Amino acid sequence: MKEVKAYAAQAADQPLGPHHLDRREPGPKDVEIKILYCGVCHSDIHTARNEWGATKYPVVPGHEIVGKVTRVGEGVTRFKAGDTVGVGCFVDSCGHCKNCERDNEQYCENGVSQTYNSFLQDKKTITYGGYSSHIVVTEKFVLKVSDKLPLQNVAPLLCAGITTYSPLRHWNVKKGDKVAVVGLGGLGHMAVKLAASMGAEVTMLSRSPEKQQDAERLGAHHFELTTDPGTLKKLTGTFDFIIDTVSAQHDYNSYLNLLATDGVMVVVGAPPKPSEVSAFSLIGGRRSLVGSLVGGLKETQEMLDYCAKHDITSDVEVISIDKINEAYERTLKGDVHYRFVIDMASL
Ligand code: NAP
Ligand code: ZN
Repeated sequence: MKEVKAYAAQAADQPLGPHHLDRREPGPKDVEIKILYCGVCHSDIHTARNEWGATKYPVVPGHEIVGKVTRVGEGVTRFKAGDTVGVGCFVDSCGHCKNCERDNEQYCENGVSQTYNSFLQDKKTITYGGYSSHIVVTEKFVLKVSDKLPLQNVAPLLCAGITTYSPLRHWNVKKGDKVAVVGLGGLGHMAVKLAASMGAEVTMLSRSPEKQQDAERLGAHHFELTTDPGTLKKLTGTFDFIIDTVSAQHDYNSYLNLLATDGVMVVVGAPPKPSEVSAFSLIGGRRSLVGSLVGGLKETQEMLDYCAKHDITSDVEVISIDKINEAYERTLKGDVHYRFVIDMASL
């Protein structure tokens, strides 16, 4: 056991503050990582504040981790000390169910071990995330990160990047497809960049007029304000694919109506409160409403390699760890351009 520094929330209504936790000694298949940067996902906020109702306190959030390998177990073959690596939303899974065998570890039938606020496969040991100086992870769940790209901008790819890349690939978004992205935050800005890189004609649907210039710089071909009642009417039946990244409860029906015949809307945002869906939003136009959770390891590595090849990273604002509570408040106000990333040297 090694005691390491971290930042934790002790209760739903408490700000995050300094904390210590024990990391295990690396076992034969383990990789020990010194964390350099960790992105701040809206899921960290939902969890720290117990908005999804299953938080175990103290909670150490953080699942967009980039760092350097410090030690490896004797059975580790893919990594050595000094390598640059990443860890995303998961740190283990059963490895033998149908979904694990098909590289969909995120849907492990026996329960995937999430990077924080979850259990390891022993179903007893609580996991603690990337707002900490070190993490120890089984080799299979460690990703190779190219040194070519700036590491603080790479960190958000580990969640925001793969969560948007995976559905774009799964539903085969391709050149010429009309794609809309709802919500320009961490996930939304990666969705715009990735969909544009795949050749889609991208429309940003946002409630924030001040984000128009940024959306266009990120690669959106069109920007439409959702607060303007004329917008949704004008765009009825337009899109082949919509990716909805909104973090708070909202009306899915108004976006479903923007789909063309056989269009698909994927929900990746995870509002704590449910919304009603009208049958008529789906029936007319044979539309699909689907969801998607992050991505498997193989696809995450594919996404990291794709981003290195195409020079795609996240637009970030680097903060010191003592600014984390302020960063949460600013994220909730939509004042994030477009991901906060913690410089872990400040811990
Ligand atoms: P974020 O950076 O806060 O972005 C969310 C964006 O949604 C905001 O910037 C805003 O964009 C829009 N929005 C927020 N509140 C809204 C409201 N009340 N009405 C309309 N639009 C609103 O959050 P994020 O980190 O991208 O995460 C987004 C959601 O995805 C969270 O719920 C998170 O937990 C979830 N998530 C899911 C997965 C998955 O695997 N499915 C993975 C990671 C995160 P505009 O200002 O442009 O409107
Ligand atoms: Zn996330």
